[in-house]
Amino acid sequence: MLSASVFYSFYNILFGVCAVLLGVGSVLSVRENNNFKSLLLFVCGGFTLIFTTYLPVFDHLLYKIGLSHTYIAFLQALVALATSVLWINAAAELYNGQPANREAVTLYISLGLTTCVYYIFIEPNPEQTDYLNGVFTLVGVTFLLVSSLLYVSENRTLGYAILSFSIFMLFTKILVAIYFFRYNWLNLNVFNWLWIYVFALAVFLIKYGAIKNELQKSWSNIDKLNQQINNMVDLSPFPIIISRLTDNKLLLINNKSVDLFGIGKKDLNYNKLDNFFVDENNRLQFFALLKQNHEVEDFDLMVCNLINSSPFWLSVSAKIIEYNNEMALYMAFQDITLRKERENTLKNQADKDPLTMAWNRRYFEKNVPEYIKKCIKKSQNFALLLIDADKFKNVNDTFGHKTGDRVLIELAEICRNSLRKDDLVARFGGEEFVVFLNNTDTKSACSVAERLRQNIAETLIKAENDEKINITVSIGVVASEKTASLEILLRQVDDAMYLAKHNGRNQVALYDEEAVKGLKHNRKKSLQRNIHPVFQNEESEEISLLDSYDNKIL
Ligand code: GH3
Ligand code: MG
Ligand code: MG
Repeated sequence: MLSASVFYSFYNILFGVCAVLLGVGSVLSVRENNNFKSLLLFVCGGFTLIFTTYLPVFDHLLYKIGLSHTYIAFLQALVALATSVLWINAAAELYNGQPANREAVTLYISLGLTTCVYYIFIEPNPEQTDYLNGVFTLVGVTFLLVSSLLYVSENRTLGYAILSFSIFMLFTKILVAIYFFRYNWLNLNVFNWLWIYVFALAVFLIKYGAIKNELQKSWSNIDKLNQQINNMVDLSPFPIIISRLTDNKLLLINNKSVDLFGIGKKDLNYNKLDNFFVDENNRLQFFALLKQNHEVEDFDLMVCNLINSSPFWLSVSAKIIEYNNEMALYMAFQDITLRKERENTLKNQADKDPLTMAWNRRYFEKNVPEYIKKCIKKSQNFALLLIDADKFKNVNDTFGHKTGDRVLIELAEICRNSLRKDDLVARFGGEEFVVFLNNTDTKSACSVAERLRQNIAETLIKAENDEKINITVSIGVVASEKTASLEILLRQVDDAMYLAKHNGRNQVALYDEEAVKGLKHNRKKSLQRNIHPVFQNEESEEISLLDSYDNKIL
């Protein structure tokens, strides 16, 4: 026969193991369901149980502070009752995720309290009191056992299976304790403490795990969202670029942009948005607008393809957004090269002479005042040349108008090729071109004019009848050293050109007041030029260099 103490020790060890299992099972079950509330109820139940178990150990302490045996017994009964209520609630939480029925629990507490009060104070019976403590705990554990078993049968989860088994062991221990070791019914050894620690650890682990899970979920949600955005952006029929706002580094570029900008997706890291801009003013304007409004709509941007570096026009709509936790610039583009080309053609038609493609007089009048203002601002000189074909009438008469036209085209071409980009060549009259020379003084203007004259004189032009002809020009020169008034300068350059004609043509003449005075009486005559039929309508406007400046003072 097994002695009671051996059985008791054996059972305590077994129960210790079960307690660990109970802890592990609870952790697993709570993990499966993320049910914090039931776990906390477990922990509270466990602590209360420990408190009950060790309460007798502190009996003498309680006696010392003057608590009578009756009140200690009452305190024990209350703790046992509280434990059972906590476990009933844990059972309800575990099974259906809700606290136990409040009315039923209130009834249970009332009955328990009444019985305790009856057996402790009214009709004191220590045996019944101990018995009651066991029954309270048994009720709580029974609820736990049933709820776990029900859960296992319905959901077949490992955590609940372990939990049910260990609760069953606890259940049998309590039964055994009640019937065989009435006075020691829950004298748990140190192993029994373990499960409380396991619970505490479980709370920490689950809390940590839950936070980590939430974080992981959030990150994966962000990843998913980004992936979705990337897919949408990739499939967009418009070229799209996302760049970091702080350093303009490219963050995303869709398939359309890859083709358009000639940049591979792999090269994203080495490229900045700035690489695509062609025109500095255009770029500054774009960023100024963006800074002001945080978004830009339909802005005409001049960009280039990185492979062939050819510039083209795009209309861009841009907005500052948050992308991957960074402030970024979202840009969607539309190719407007065709529109721009059409616009340019129209503009050229309005601003250029259709025969020679030199700027027309309208353009000259509109823009040269601005050029002059810039020169004055920078304290720079400028100069005007007036180029008139010599005896051009003879060309028409001898070789025909077509050849005459060809000569005019060639003249304009030579002028353009012989001058700088920021100089301006305009066809002012029939066979007369005016040139605005930026940042040029008298001396340089004379040498430019001389070079031009020579270039023209040396060029052989093919006539309609395949004959090679060459043409000469007379060039008047004036610079802005004495006056910056366009009106006066135009008068003077006209006089200078007349001087060149008078001196024998095919030469350059600088404006010379004295020399011009002597010729004044002939001047009026020289202004009455013959005009080609093409310009007859514009005659009043085009033939006299001076008319339209009469009232203009710069
Ligand atoms: P000068 O050396 O004094 O300048 O003699 P010129 O013959 O060049 O001068 P004039 O002004 O008498 O003649 C200009 C001629 O230019 C008359 C006109 O028929 C011709 N002309 C003007 N516009 C055109 C044009 O668009 N095409 C052609 N083929 N001829 C033109
Ligand atoms: Mg002329
Ligand atoms: Mg002429």
